[in-house]
Formats: sequence, C-alpha cells, structure tokens
Amino acid sequence: MREFDLIQRFFDRPTKQRQVCLGVGDDGAVLQVPEAHELVVVTDTLVEGVHFRATDGAGDLGYKALAVNLSDLAAMGAVPVWALLNLTLPEANEQWLRQFSDGFFRLAMQHDVALVGGDTTRGPLCISVTAGGWVSVGQALTRSGAAVNDRVWITGTVGDAALALAERPVADIDSETRWLLNRLHRPTPRVGIGLALYGLASAVIDISDGLLADLGQIVRASGQAGAVIETTSLPLSPAGKSYPLEDRLTAALTGGDDYELCLTVPPSESDRMRMLSREAGVLLTDVGCITAHAGITLTQSGVPVAGPRRDGYEHVWPVARERDS
Ligand code: ADP
Ligand code: MG
Repeated sequence: MREFDLIQRFFDRPTKQRQVCLGVGDDGAVLQVPEAHELVVVTDTLVEGVHFRATDGAGDLGYKALAVNLSDLAAMGAVPVWALLNLTLPEANEQWLRQFSDGFFRLAMQHDVALVGGDTTRGPLCISVTAGGWVSVGQALTRSGAAVNDRVWITGTVGDAALALAERPVADIDSETRWLLNRLHRPTPRVGIGLALYGLASAVIDISDGLLADLGQIVRASGQAGAVIETTSLPLSPAGKSYPLEDRLTAALTGGDDYELCLTVPPSESDRMRMLSREAGVLLTDVGCITAHAGITLTQSGVPVAGPRRDGYEHVWPVARERDS
C-alpha cells in the first residue's frame, strides 16, 4: 500500500469542527483560534516495548494514543479541538490499520476532535500524537498554583492500570480483570472535569506516572514543601479487591497510566467539589492536603506510615560513553 492511499483510506475523515479551515491533504493544516482564546498544545508518544506490548490490540492503541493527549489537555483546562498523528509502521497491515483508526476516531468523535494531519513513515512501531485545544485568555490551569492547606483531590479510581499489568495466569481472565485491562487500554480523559475546574482548582496535573510522582510535580512547581496523603481515603476500584490491600495501595500510589486528574483546591471550596462530582457523575475524592512540612507523608487514619520504595514511573537512559574523536 502506498503512503497516499493509506492516509486517504484510514485517516482522512470529514469533521464538523468549524475551526478547521484546512485539514488532511495539503502541506499543512489551517486552524482558527477563536477570539479571546489561547492555543494549548500537547504531545505524547507511545513506543512498543515501553508504553505498550506487541500483543496489544490495534484498536486500543489508536484510542489510547489520543486519550493520553486529551488527558493532558484536560489537565490544562482546555477544550480539545484537533490532533496530528505521526505514525511509524513496520508494515501496512490493513486489518491493523482499520482497527487502529477506528479506535482513534471513536474517541475523537466523542470529543469532536478533528484529525488535521500527521506523518506516516516506515520503521519500528511508534505512535506520536500532538493535540491542540483552546482556553479563554489567561484561564489555562497549571501545576504551579498550590498553596499550603489546599486539599488534594483526585478523579476516578487509581491503581487500576498497574493492577491490570500484574502477572496472572492466562486462564484467570475474569470480568474484574477485564475491567482493569479496559482501564489500562481505554483510559477516560477527564475533559469535562478539566473544563469545570477554572476558578476552583489552584493546580492540576494528570496522573500518568503515579500519584506520588505527579503530586510531587505539583508540590515542586508550586514552590511548596510537601503534602500528606491519607491512604484510607484513596479511591480504589472494587475490581481490584482480589489483590492484597498492600498491592492495591502500592498500585494506587505509584502505578502510572490511570490518566485521572490530581488537583489542589482551597479548603473553602470542598462543597463546590462535592457538587461538581454529583453534577458531572464523576467520582472526586479528597485524599490529603498540601503542607509546609517537607516531602510527601503517607498516613493511615492520621498516623504516619512507611510508603512504597519508589514513587512512580520514570524513563532512565543509559549514559553514553564518550567516543574518541
Ligand atoms: P509531505 O510530503 O508534505 O510531508 P505527506 O505525504 O507526509 O506530506 O502527507 C500528506 C498529507 O497527509 C498531509 O496533509 C499530512 O498532514 C497528512 N498525513 C500524513 N500522515 C498522516 C496520518 N498518519 N494521519 C493523518 N494525516 C496524515
Ligand atoms: Mg511527510
């Protein structure tokens, strides 16, 4: 299959987005930013063997490649509008491309996101998406506004994706495991919540590397000393109940890939958060607060307890030795 045919058949689909003046097919896309708005741009790459396994379904990959970007836009409080798709493929397998593009467009249509371009190359499987969205001028949410005593809230449940990756006998795929796997492969970007947080949250991040690691980013970016997390408050899903509590807590604290939001909110706004949770139909849980005490402290019913040894996922590169010139 030639590159042109591949793009036309699988990735050139009509859009209703009014802000797309010119999409797939030319040397570049032409996009409008509405008056009094700013453009928020995010990008994320999925690499085989690092972010997904060779055996993962193509539909899931297409969905997730976009989902992780929409999650970043949600954490910025932006309305998602368009996406670019850079696809490196070892081969042009029609069934794979059909499933991949259907997974991608399924989520894109849910959020009215237009695929406006990309690049298609041959090589080891790698999927990179860049997405854009709008915020009203000055209203982007950031990681850097958390104050001491702000409450720490999270959306949904945490640790599901990490539990889904736990080793288990293949014969053991029950409905709960399937639910956890779906959380890993088809995370729900919290776009609606992100849009409702302006004027409410002081700092927001999406949980891609693990709650401890990502809350640590808020603490650092906000110039604060630390935070407390009450472990008995952590929202764990019932689907993980067959795992020991210790494993579930470790997954909730350090497991990445859940793509929930972690945010800080002044304590005076707790009622508004509860109201938002009811209105949006999304679980929002108060799990702790920002402190003047250094580091992230874990408590169990108010008593400090030891935490897991590492706080989340981090890419580590081998240091290249300098070559003789
Ligand atoms: P160029 O040679 O100018 O880089 P390409 O042949 O790479 O153009 O791409 C042709 C058109 O198809 C461009 O509009 C580009 O944005 C789009 N495109 C390429 N790959 C993809 C893809 N995987 N998904 C969506 N659009 C794509
Ligand atoms: Mg090109």
